[in-house]
Amino acid sequence: MKLSERQSLGLYISIPFCRSKCTYCNFASGVYPASEHARYVGRIIEDLRAAQAFASGNHLHLPIVVDSIYLGGGTPTLLTGELLAQLFAAIHDVFAVAEDAEITVECAPGQIGDATLYAMAACGVNRASLGVQSFVDVEAAQAGRLHTRKQVFEDVARLREAGIRNVNLDLIAGLAGQTLESWEESLEALGEAAPTHASIYMLEVDEDSRLGRELLSGGARYRAGLVPNEETIIKLYEHGVEFLSKAGFAQYEISNFARSGFESRHNLRYWERKPYLGVGLDASSFLYVAEARENFSALRWSETSELGDYIAKKGAQELQRLDRHMELEEEFFLGLRKNSGVEVGRLKNHYGSAAVEAMLMAAEAMLVDGLLIHEENLLRFTPRGRLLSNEVFAAFLSLPGV
Ligand code: SF4
Repeated sequence: MKLSERQSLGLYISIPFCRSKCTYCNFASGVYPASEHARYVGRIIEDLRAAQAFASGNHLHLPIVVDSIYLGGGTPTLLTGELLAQLFAAIHDVFAVAEDAEITVECAPGQIGDATLYAMAACGVNRASLGVQSFVDVEAAQAGRLHTRKQVFEDVARLREAGIRNVNLDLIAGLAGQTLESWEESLEALGEAAPTHASIYMLEVDEDSRLGRELLSGGARYRAGLVPNEETIIKLYEHGVEFLSKAGFAQYEISNFARSGFESRHNLRYWERKPYLGVGLDASSFLYVAEARENFSALRWSETSELGDYIAKKGAQELQRLDRHMELEEEFFLGLRKNSGVEVGRLKNHYGSAAVEAMLMAAEAMLVDGLLIHEENLLRFTPRGRLLSNEVFAAFLSLPGV
């Protein structure tokens, strides 16, 4: 990455409030009384104001110019217009927001009040990401979503009327009860809604969601028995990729698809290792050091995932100091997520040929297995490799330091 690309910042603000908890959700979010919202926003504003001192105290460079802002969660649209306005006023107070900044708010369909919508537009929000997950009402309801297909279409229209025309729609492949037919119905509806960006996530099964726990332990409350098997989930995903490609959405990352020019600038920051500051519950940050030293070139950290601790300033931050070898590993496993892949020549210039060649040796077996392609200075996933991405990443991480 050119040095100039380290001179702008992405800002992530976590708003962990939801109206109800979705069965598949493994985020640090929950249902809290509205009275907590104001206290929480107050805490975020304190952290925003303290960010520069934190960065200096840890020898980090915190860019002042912000070119992407992302309010995620949770359901940020549960905040009142007034709280949103306070939050954005603080952001503008602390940082210089670029004129063409991408400013995204995650929205739960059916939960965007008029006052909040007008406040979003007034605060300069120009992108909305809607967690649709399924356009089939019964599937969405079983997953704990509170919206219908009709509400999604209405909200997309309302956002556009308010001037927010850059819209992402998320779908999940693998919800309980989903079939190839019902998946096709969701994809067709997504095409009809005509967003600029779409994301398809394969259902994650882990102990952090109610559905995941039920799948692992057996049980019927969240209809885990109706979750499609892994083979079917892969088929749904592959069909989604094909559908979106025919509909004019280019895949640029494992789960992300965009019409030309509408790739998410904020998400690209994560995979391109550009600096970002995450503020709020469970938020992650990544900044480079102001002056690199031998064993410390960048810092990743994340905030506590306990709301009470965060508000009371009790939770400890998890800090991870990166050295050059760890950075190089990240270049591979984050860069490979993008369809454009990893630029090998650039890495050699930056990290030295020997270190990069050692990583490429780790990739050799995966090239032979047809999971990766190395051509024209780019190392990329094949479509099959993309499906087995976690195994490929693990192979890169198993290399000893060089
Ligand atoms: S709306 Fe999002 S964050 Fe909230 S429970 Fe559902 S999936 Fe989780």
